[in-house]
Amino acid sequence: MQDEVLILGGGVAGCAASIALARKGSSVTLIEREHTPRHKICGEFLSGEALEDLHAIGIDVASLGAVPIDCVRLAAARRAAEAPLPFPAASLTRKALDTALIAEAIAAGVRVERGRSVHALSRTASGTWQATLEDGSTRHAPTVFLATGKHDLRGHHRPRDPQQWVAFKMYFRLAPAQAAELAGASELMLYPGGYGGIQPVEGGIANLCCVIQRRYLARAGLRWESFLARIQQDCPHLAMRLAGAEPLLVRPIAITHIPYGYIRRTTENGLYCIGDQAAVIPSFTGDGISIALHTARCAVAAFLATEPAPLFQANLRSALLSQMRLAEFAANGLNNALARAVLPFCLRVWPGVMRVTAKLTRIARHSAVTPQALAS
Ligand SMILES: Cc1cc2nc3c(=O)[nH]c(=O)nc-3n(C[C@H](O)[C@H](O)[C@H](O)COP(=O)(O)OP(=O)(O)OC[C@H]3O[C@@H](n4cnc5c(N)ncnc54)[C@H](O)[C@@H]3O)c2cc1C
Repeated sequence: MQDEVLILGGGVAGCAASIALARKGSSVTLIEREHTPRHKICGEFLSGEALEDLHAIGIDVASLGAVPIDCVRLAAARRAAEAPLPFPAASLTRKALDTALIAEAIAAGVRVERGRSVHALSRTASGTWQATLEDGSTRHAPTVFLATGKHDLRGHHRPRDPQQWVAFKMYFRLAPAQAAELAGASELMLYPGGYGGIQPVEGGIANLCCVIQRRYLARAGLRWESFLARIQQDCPHLAMRLAGAEPLLVRPIAITHIPYGYIRRTTENGLYCIGDQAAVIPSFTGDGISIALHTARCAVAAFLATEPAPLFQANLRSALLSQMRLAEFAANGLNNALARAVLPFCLRVWPGVMRVTAKLTRIARHSAVTPQALAS
């Protein structure tokens, strides 16, 4: 069977694109390798833009138990400072969010094939795209949206990341006094070689998500337990938060190879790359989900306007470039020992720096492609 559009990957970007396309009358098949959504590496912070996009595609995060977040705290060495967030934000586990997105896609009429992994994507002699699944079966379509997130398909690799980033995520049940202090806040912790965030999510628990360059992780023997102990030494604020906390996963979720700063330059006709396959912003911005939704929306608009995929990809790159470069510049700053020492102090005397940074690392919205424009 040949569909109009084949979407590979049923995370944020793939689901959002499939919902918008199906609502506009396209025949869409979405292929997702997991049988059911599971925990993913993510700080699970939903920025104002992400909330707006999710609302426009019919996802009511409040009804899913999302926790409102209204302030950000920065902790480094022995200092911590906080500032109100300049936009509404929330946190919600990816498991809950991805479950709701897949359900919305099915309700919109998308044919969802779950528990099927795409192994290769190639062009046939007739020019259509052919996706080959793990059992050797194939799916064909003239248009493909590549939305496999952090995972690259054979023949469609993104560059390797020179810093060799490693990310960990663990859920904790905090001691009651610490949970009360963390309420409504997203805390960013700086330590040599990386940074981490802790924030409350639904169900009265907290998500700790950290990134570290491999050579710094090697100093902790490449082991989660020693790494966690080390960052608590470097950042006493985190040690305080985790005092008496109960880890809730048997082991942390971990990934490697995060090509921060990547923005896809080009693509082939009929292949729209979205989400992390289009751009990977440093995680401290908490903007990856928003970018995934934005790229999905722009790709759908381009497809519906019969804009060739290479042109879409080039336009997307130009639109994201300044935000990405600024986020990278800020991320490098966070990794600098001097910056780590003075940042919380600066924040205390000038909370406005938070507002400005947050504003500059958000995507500039294109008025023709608002969330509402593709909602119905
Ligand atoms: C450490 C870290 C912390 C982060 N914290 C935040 C945060 O707090 N807030 C925020 O907004 N962003 C955050 N992000 C970024 C955010 O998680 C991503 O940008 C976002 O998930 C990208 O969405 P996506 O749809 O491209 O990928 P995903 O949501 O990862 O979806 C990809 C989907 O494709 C499926 N898939 C993969 N390969 C195949 C295959 N071969 N066949 C079929 N299906 C396949 C996967 O199972 C998955 O469901 C963070 C990222 C990292 C690394």
